[in-house]
Amino acid sequence: MKRAPQAELLRELPAIGQLVQLSALANLPPSVRQEAAHQAVAEVRAAVLAGSLVKLPTEAQWLARIRARAEILMGGALRRVLNATGVVLHTNLGRAPLATAAVRATASRAVGYSNLELDLEEGVRGSRHAHVSAQLRHLTGAEAALVVNNNAAAVLLAAAALAPGGQIVVSRGELVEIGGSFRVPEVIVQSGAQLREVGTTNKTHAADYEAAIGEQTAMLLKVHQSNFRQLGFTASVEVEELAELAHRHDLPLMVDLGSGVLVDLAARQIAQEPTVTSCLRQGADLCTFSGDKLLGGPQAGIIVGRAQYLERLRRHPLMRALRPDKLCLAALSATLALYARPEQAWAEIPVLEMLGRAPELLARQARLMARALRPLLPGLPVAVEADRSEAGGGSLPGALLPTSVVALGPHPRLEALAAALRRGEPAVLARISGQRLRLDPRTLSDEERRQLPKLVQAAWQAIQMPTP
Ligand SMILES: *Cc1c(COP(=O)(O)O)cnc(C)c1O
Repeated sequence: MKRAPQAELLRELPAIGQLVQLSALANLPPSVRQEAAHQAVAEVRAAVLAGSLVKLPTEAQWLARIRARAEILMGGALRRVLNATGVVLHTNLGRAPLATAAVRATASRAVGYSNLELDLEEGVRGSRHAHVSAQLRHLTGAEAALVVNNNAAAVLLAAAALAPGGQIVVSRGELVEIGGSFRVPEVIVQSGAQLREVGTTNKTHAADYEAAIGEQTAMLLKVHQSNFRQLGFTASVEVEELAELAHRHDLPLMVDLGSGVLVDLAARQIAQEPTVTSCLRQGADLCTFSGDKLLGGPQAGIIVGRAQYLERLRRHPLMRALRPDKLCLAALSATLALYARPEQAWAEIPVLEMLGRAPELLARQARLMARALRPLLPGLPVAVEADRSEAGGGSLPGALLPTSVVALGPHPRLEALAAALRRGEPAVLARISGQRLRLDPRTLSDEERRQLPKLVQAAWQAIQMPTP
């Protein structure tokens, strides 16, 4: 009987003891060498079993695999990525890149000590929240402000502090999933509060809220439809009317805004999105939003609103578990400082700069990229095409951001090229659609656009060689 080639390959897999003896690996610590070799063999065995590998690696290829594993074991796997997708707040790519001022402030507070919890005037213990709360109050018009680890934490803390054992009334049209595993209803259940759902998926009226309010009611909640749009036969209750209703019953209204917009996006024809200030003006008692979505700062959850409620949040035991660290506060404070002058915010906060980049500028940037790429990619068509970028990060659904992209292809190996780009150093993430690999200049800085041609060339050359 003929032996299955798979079984033969498995039998011929080298022993780990044999691989760790390779002299080219002598500079690795012994435990790293052992573990990396173990992982490389397991990886190859799995590939053989899956049928994706029909030939065992050569010695050079084993060395490359073991070295790649060793690098991750010693240095971690969080790497630099050039975002050529045109998705500004790419959740998988760390959402908002920070402004230079925020990076500098973070580095400076990181390298030395800071007055994180010290009142320098009086020489007594201070609050870590004091540093950014004055800025947030000034920028939003709120009475008080508080920062936690992220917006999910903000919603959790507010529900736990203001509605323990009570009911939170929310529309069935707003029980949203944000992405990853964040579902508004599930977070609220974790707080110990109960959800009281009202209305239907497409329509909720003020009377629905009114009918649900009773002894048990602790708060009304409105969740901004930040990552989807409802069209057609729909109705929801505006913040103003909901606030009036809540206050008539002596209840707080919380609005989970998702993205924290502090500038006028409509004035730049980007999107109609409520600002934090307008939400408070319409009567919301608390507004929660992320630091790293449209605000363009570090990962953080920001809660602004009435002092009497925020004081209860501040004193809640969960506050300690959800509090932001000094690096986050340094980056957030420096980002907020740029908002003191809106022109400066638009120019220096990368998220705003990218969203606001003019179509003519993007077209010029795409043409320059194409010109640099053409001579480096023999056999691959290079063109400039009109396209659309996205805000991403569950923000501004439906916003149309006209752009120009460099379109590579058609070519049968575009998927392989995209994979080779991801393996580059730094990695490059691109988008494939319509049989073209698309590189959008919108989400690339000047320096990254200069770096890109060499990275694409290296990836293109890598896939011309036989695969390891
Ligand atoms: C994004 C979002 C959240 C979660 O914010 P994180 O900062 O990612 O925790 C919560 N609510 C809404 C409406 C959102 O859009």
